[in-house]
Amino acid sequence: MLYIVPTPIGNLQDITLRALETLKTADAVLCEDTRRTQILLSHFGISKPTYRYNENDDRSVARCLEALKSGKTCALVSDCGTPCISDPGWKLVKEAVAAGIKVSSLPGPSAVACALAGAGITGGAFTFLGFLPRKAGKAAKLIASAHELNHPVVIYESPYRVVKMLELIAKTLGGNTPVILARELSKVYEEWLRGTAEGLAAELGKKNKVQGEFVMIIDRAQQAPQEEEDEPDPYF
Ligand code: SAM
Repeated sequence: MLYIVPTPIGNLQDITLRALETLKTADAVLCEDTRRTQILLSHFGISKPTYRYNENDDRSVARCLEALKSGKTCALVSDCGTPCISDPGWKLVKEAVAAGIKVSSLPGPSAVACALAGAGITGGAFTFLGFLPRKAGKAAKLIASAHELNHPVVIYESPYRVVKMLELIAKTLGGNTPVILARELSKVYEEWLRGTAEGLAAELGKKNKVQGEFVMIIDRAQQAPQEEEDEPDPYF
C-alpha cells in the first residue's frame, strides 16, 4: 500500500493528524531528502526507516517499488507540501498503480491551494503552471497561452528569479497586468504583495536580495462574463 502524505510548507503545526498516524504506522517513508525528512520525523517523535526517492534515478524508483510489491506499507513524502505537485513522486505513483498496488492520497498542505485561497480572486477555475521553463521564450509562450483562458495563472518561482519573472510577465502581457505574490506562506514572515507586474518588479528590484519562497498569481485579464442562464446548452 502506498500513501501519499503531504507535509507542512513552513509551519509544522500544519501537519494533519492523519499524516502523523500514517507516518507512524508505515513500514518505511520514501522521501526526496532523507536528512530533511528525518528532521521532520524526529520533531514528531517518529522513528522510521527512510528511503531516498529520485524521479531521475530509475534504481531508486525500482527499489521503492520492490518494497511496495513485497507487501510493505510505504508513505511517500516530499521536502514540503504535497508530493507530485511540482515535486517528485508521480513516476512511483504511476508504476504502483500499474503494478496493482493500492494508492491512497491524503489531503494536506500545498502552496498552490494556500496562495489561491488567500488571493481572493477566484472561487473557480485556475491554471497551475508550476515551475516555468528556464528559457524566457518558452516561459513567455506558456504564460501567454495560459492567460488567454481568462483564469488566474499560478506559478512557482524561486526568490532568485522572481524579479526576472515579473519583468517577463510585464513584457508578455503588459506592465499593468495585476499580480499577487504570496511570500513565505504559513511562516512568521508571511507576506502578500499585490500590484502590477511592472510595479512589483520595480519594488522587489530595489532590494539587495529577494528572500523567501514565492507563489505568483497572475490575475485574469478581465472578469469572466456572467453565464447566460437561458442560453441553450448544445451538449444537453
Ligand atoms: N509540493 C509543494 C506543494 O505542494 O506546494 C511544492 C514544492 S516546490 C519544489 C517548491 C515551491 O513551492 C517553491 O519554490 C515556492 O514557489 C512554493 N512554496 C513552497 N512553500 C512555500 C511557502 N511557504 N510560501 C510560498 N511559496 C511556497
